[in-house]
Amino acid sequence: VRVVPISRSRRRRLRVLISGIGIAGPTLAWWLMRAGIAVTMVERAPAPRADGYMIDFWGVGYDVAERMDLIDELRNRGYFIDEVRFVNARGEKIGGLELESLRTVLNGRFFSILRGDLARALYDRIAGNAELIFGDTVTSIEERASDVLVEFERNRSRTFDLVIGADGLHSRVRELAFGPQEEFETKLGYYAASFFAHRYPYRDERAYVSYTSPRRHVARYALRDDRAAFLFVCVAPREAADPPDVRAQKDFLRRMFSSNAWEIDRITTALYSAEDLYFDRVSQIFTPRWSNGRVALVGDACFCPSLLAGQGAAFAMAGAYVLAHELSATPEHYAAAFHSYEERFRPFVDRKQLAARRIGSWFAPRSKLGLAWRNGVSALLSIPFVMRQTLGSALLDRFELPDFERMPALNSAIQQGRVTNEYR
Ligand SMILES: Cc1cc2nc3c(=O)[nH]c(=O)nc-3n(C[C@H](O)[C@H](O)[C@H](O)COP(=O)(O)OP(=O)(O)OC[C@H]3O[C@@H](n4cnc5c(N)ncnc54)[C@H](O)[C@@H]3O)c2cc1C
Repeated sequence: VRVVPISRSRRRRLRVLISGIGIAGPTLAWWLMRAGIAVTMVERAPAPRADGYMIDFWGVGYDVAERMDLIDELRNRGYFIDEVRFVNARGEKIGGLELESLRTVLNGRFFSILRGDLARALYDRIAGNAELIFGDTVTSIEERASDVLVEFERNRSRTFDLVIGADGLHSRVRELAFGPQEEFETKLGYYAASFFAHRYPYRDERAYVSYTSPRRHVARYALRDDRAAFLFVCVAPREAADPPDVRAQKDFLRRMFSSNAWEIDRITTALYSAEDLYFDRVSQIFTPRWSNGRVALVGDACFCPSLLAGQGAAFAMAGAYVLAHELSATPEHYAAAFHSYEERFRPFVDRKQLAARRIGSWFAPRSKLGLAWRNGVSALLSIPFVMRQTLGSALLDRFELPDFERMPALNSAIQQGRVTNEYR
């Protein structure tokens, strides 16, 4: 690894630009600021994004949230789903699993939370401490001998020591510093969509209720304040171009899910009144390297595992934590920090991405036989022993987070006055 000094002046604080105020971005910002690093963040949306679907939260993400002293707040905002229930066209239960078995395997360290609520809780932690720019995006990144010149669409150009792309699956930073999206995206052959509705007439508290026909999965779950959330997953028609706008996405979903079965008619009607449709292809991102000079990536931008992994937000938080740890440990040697961030975290997410690719058929089996097999296996998973034996190694995150408290390089840097740490 080439060791590159970050700045000639050892007393100047490291200045980092983070693109994206989603999940990875604010987590990284919080830990960097804690280590005395100056953070500027730019977010394309005009305000913190409160949108997003329900995500499951466990493993390394849970550990990071605990270290941020955030876990009680997240659990309070979260949901505890007891049952995944598969229903037939008449709405009768035909299978499913009790999630108590999952909670047993994970020692109770598992809950669900709206992505928007998680993002909001993380945002609240950094608001007022980092410099935040909303409604803008990076348009060019020019690496120079001792800094990076960044141009924005709306704001004046600025220089930073480092730029981090935490801007998700369709990362702009990745496009500018690494290459076009197509080079890094593996489409897994599904579309996913979700939206919320108020006063939807059917509610099953603490249950994820789903109707699946071959190649199509639709589900609903009840939220507080008389809201409901809906999730669609379907096999993408071969060679089809992505629907270009929200109207086309809704039309596409109605076509794909057109059926009299269960509540589908009612759900697709509710879809047309939804203001917050999330719609995207289900993809994974593989980037051969997570950094290029003074630019690095984190979260979905470089290792998106797809919704099939069920842990993208957790991995985004853990990746951000490791990156912050490495940068804080060697604040003057960004190349070494980027290298050890990738070396430490990459093998773990590589394994998780591989495991996620095998799960696609659980959501939307392609045939009736596949569907019957899924329903049968799911029922067995209600038994903790079976859950542990079959999915235990996939569910348990075998990754040990490095420890900020035991970080000699940072501590000695702080003692020597080379890093100012506002939070000590
Ligand atoms: C339907 C669905 C269900 C999922 N379910 C789960 C689940 O059960 N459990 C789970 O853990 N994960 C789940 N995930 C994945 C999870 O949401 C993501 O992996 C996670 O949000 C990644 O965090 P991130 O910060 O890297 O990216 P994001 O959360 O996508 O945040 C990126 C941010 O960057 C901003 N941005 C984008 N472009 C620019 C730009 N040009 N300039 C500035 N800002 C920009 C965006 O507006 C956004 O705020 C699911 C995903 C989907 C699609």
